[in-house]
Amino acid sequence: MKHAEMNKKNRQKKNNGITTALSIDKINQISLQQFLTLIREEGRWAAARLLFYLYIALSLITFGGFSILTLPIASRLFFDSWAFWRYGKYYPRLLLQGYRVMGKMLKDSSYKFLFSVPLTGQPLKSPDRNITRLASNWVHEENTCHNCSRCCDKIFCPLLDSANGNCIAYNTFYWRYFLCGRFPTTQQQLDYYGCPKWKMRYQEEG
Ligand code: SF4
Repeated sequence: MKHAEMNKKNRQKKNNGITTALSIDKINQISLQQFLTLIREEGRWAAARLLFYLYIALSLITFGGFSILTLPIASRLFFDSWAFWRYGKYYPRLLLQGYRVMGKMLKDSSYKFLFSVPLTGQPLKSPDRNITRLASNWVHEENTCHNCSRCCDKIFCPLLDSANGNCIAYNTFYWRYFLCGRFPTTQQQLDYYGCPKWKMRYQEEG
């Protein structure tokens, strides 16, 4: 969730794009051509997520065996690179993290909000500014989390590089398709992680 390298250009591009799941309102507002494009893109995003879930499930069920046989794919998903040999130390940590997350989900159903990403949602590289704003006491630039890494520390994320505090998975498939790239999406997430940077807009309106 460290947004160290995102920039305004990307945000504007994102805001101009298709950012939410398909709804009746949206269908009423767009042309047939746009509708078909939307269906196609949302179908692609949903398929990518489903395949990812399948990949993770197979890896966990086989105690990492499936991942070992398909390391280039794991490397591409988490490190945006086919050069799997560069990330050897991360694979066992990722596997352990997978079991840890599963365990937390089984023990605490509210923990599932961590995965509250719509199946058909557009991959994102920054929070949706229609629902979020910077905290008024956040004195740093928007494109940095400064020295904070609370959200990564909270879940013992193995993808946080302890040497420099950067996210090694920044802007990868995993980062963009799941919560990291779009964090935060709910007040519950902000409370859970104790994020000092973002506020939900609907909180101040309520
Ligand atoms: S908790 Fe908030 S400010 Fe801290 S690293 Fe995560 S997103 Fe950035």
